[in-house]
Amino acid sequence: MEQKRLIEEAEKYLMNTYRRYPVVLRKGSGVKVFGIDGKEYLDFVGGIAVNILGHCPRKVVIAVQKQVQRLIHVSNLYHIEPQIKLAKLLVENSFADRVFFCNSGAEANEGAIKLARKFAKEFLSPDRYEIITCHGSFHGRTYGALTATAQEKFHNGFGPLLPGFKYVPFNDIESLRKAIDKNTCAVMIEPIQGEGGVRIPDEEYLKEVRRLCDDNGVLLILDEVQTGMGRTGRLFCYEHYGIRPDIMTLAKGLGSGIPIGAILATESVSKAFTPGSHASTFGGNPVACAAAIATMETLLEDDFILDNVRRMGSYFLERLHGLKKDFPDIILSVRGKGLLVGMELLRDCTDIVQECIKRGLLINCTAGNVLRFTPPLTVEKKHIDMCIDILEEVIAELK
Ligand SMILES: *Cc1c(COP(=O)(O)O)cnc(C)c1O
Repeated sequence: MEQKRLIEEAEKYLMNTYRRYPVVLRKGSGVKVFGIDGKEYLDFVGGIAVNILGHCPRKVVIAVQKQVQRLIHVSNLYHIEPQIKLAKLLVENSFADRVFFCNSGAEANEGAIKLARKFAKEFLSPDRYEIITCHGSFHGRTYGALTATAQEKFHNGFGPLLPGFKYVPFNDIESLRKAIDKNTCAVMIEPIQGEGGVRIPDEEYLKEVRRLCDDNGVLLILDEVQTGMGRTGRLFCYEHYGIRPDIMTLAKGLGSGIPIGAILATESVSKAFTPGSHASTFGGNPVACAAAIATMETLLEDDFILDNVRRMGSYFLERLHGLKKDFPDIILSVRGKGLLVGMELLRDCTDIVQECIKRGLLINCTAGNVLRFTPPLTVEKKHIDMCIDILEEVIAELK
């Protein structure tokens, strides 16, 4: 069988970094994705919050097709229209005044750390270099972003890490207050911890973090790599909390799956970067920017999408709460904002994920015991009902 042979070759030729499911996916459309054996899956992983408009959204496909015919790449030694247009779209629809483009979430966070340190050194005090992050966070796998990620399981075997980081418990303002001192340069935080298990802080927490940063002359970096681009029902998650960061990072959903990341910052912070400070060969590549423009325009043109995220998000939570009522000895809690949804179990979730795949549903397990759902923002009620039906069957069989 073709699938079996391919999986054997994957195991032979690829580095063994992913615990992949024994499925080879070939094509997708909307919320559906298809294996090479023809099996159909309902995709509630969506590339982990990447495929925000579903698989192969028409507008993005056409924008990319047009762009690859015109220009695939030029150096950042020159201007290109798509990069300028995308920067303008992001600035006009966020707190930010300026944008730097890169290729991934980790790369965006690396750049944000560099920007914060350089800003502090030049405009605050040379002693301010320390970045405070939260336990359970996830900021990426490169050394700076990995050090910022305050989870030992990701650090093991890779030391020594980058100096100048300090960790505090998430959603605990008093610990943060105690941790900030004359060496603190920035607080870097996810508005909702995604990889950490869809952990949503108290309503007031981020406001208090912002206030603490202001009182102490410390920058606030929001990592919206997962929560940005409409995922939580607003274009950016910080909008829910009535605050504005100094620096924000984006990636995942920004290009609907074409790799692109971005650092957004205020004018005064952006001043720390001058020609030669920072760079990325592929950053802001025309094809990636064309995909991101099409994605942004779809989100902005269509009030329907953000509204759909809010409506489908609350419907999904309501249905999951129903499941929790039926299975109180398996499900501990259900939480979410928009279509970033988690269900914490009283057990490991890998077997549930595997059973769901067999029944044609892709879901993700994070932090060991949290089922994470990140369907496309265009998901419909009937898809959520299908997802709940499969979950219910699978969980009922566990008993
Ligand atoms: C996925 C993620 C990253 C890392 O992004 P990559 O593109 O994999 O480097 C960083 N921060 C958050 C919040 C993420 O969810």
